[in-house]
Amino acid sequence: MPRLCLILFGSPGSGKGTQAKLLKESLGIAHISTGDMLRERVTSGDEIGRSVASLMQAGELVPDETVNRLVEERIDQPDCINGFILDGYPRTVQQAQLLAELLVLRPIRTIVVHLVVDYNVIIARISGRRQCPVCGSVYGINSIAPNTVGVCDKDGAKLLVRDDDREEVVRERLRSYEQQTSPVLAYFKKSGIPCWDVPAAGVAPQVIAKGIEALVRKERGEAA
Ligand code: AMP
Repeated sequence: MPRLCLILFGSPGSGKGTQAKLLKESLGIAHISTGDMLRERVTSGDEIGRSVASLMQAGELVPDETVNRLVEERIDQPDCINGFILDGYPRTVQQAQLLAELLVLRPIRTIVVHLVVDYNVIIARISGRRQCPVCGSVYGINSIAPNTVGVCDKDGAKLLVRDDDREEVVRERLRSYEQQTSPVLAYFKKSGIPCWDVPAAGVAPQVIAKGIEALVRKERGEAA
C-alpha cells in the first residue's frame, strides 16, 4: 500500500489539530503540524524561532521558504514511513507547489479533506480555546472541557490562551486564510487531487474523525 499524505484543510479553528490527533491513532500515520513545529522553535529561541516570532504573534503567515524547509525535512523522518497528516500546511499556492514537487518524487497517495465550519462557530471556538503549555493538549471552555477548569487532564499544568488566539489576532488569521489559503483549495482541485468537503461542526470530533477515516480507507481501496 502506498504511503498516505492526508492534507487537513480548513480555516483556523476548523478542528484540524483535533482531527489530526484522532486520525493519527486510527490510521497509524504521523501528525505534522507546522504551527506546532514553529511554536517549538519560538520556545527554543533558535534562529528560525527568533525570525518568525513577531509574525506569528501578529497572526501573519511566516515566509514560505521557512515552512517548506521544515516540512521537507520532516516528511522523511522514520515515523512518516506509512504516511503523514499535514495540519496547517500548505497554506499558500507556493507551498502547495513545493509539496506537489516533493510528493512526485515519492510514491504517496494524496487526499485533501476540507473541514467546513461556519464563520461564527469558528470565532466562538477560537475565543474559548485553551492549550496546555507542557503537552500541547487543546481544550474548549464550551466543548472538550478539562475535568478541572483551567487545568490540563494529562499533566496538571495551568491551561493558557495561545497568544495568537486573542480576538484581534484571530481576525487577522481569518483574513490571511481568506486571501492566501483559500486559493490553495482551488489549486488542489485543478491538480486533480481528490478533495472532500466534510462538515465539521455540530457533532462530536470522534464522529467527524470516523467519517474521515472511512473516506480515506475508501480512497485507498481498503474495506471500510
Ligand atoms: P496554526 O497553529 O496552524 O494555526 O499556526 C499558527 C501560526 O503559525 C500561523 O498563524 C502562522 O503564523 C504560522 N504558520 C503555521 N503554518 C504555517 C504555514 N504553512 N505557512 C505560513 N505560516 C504558518
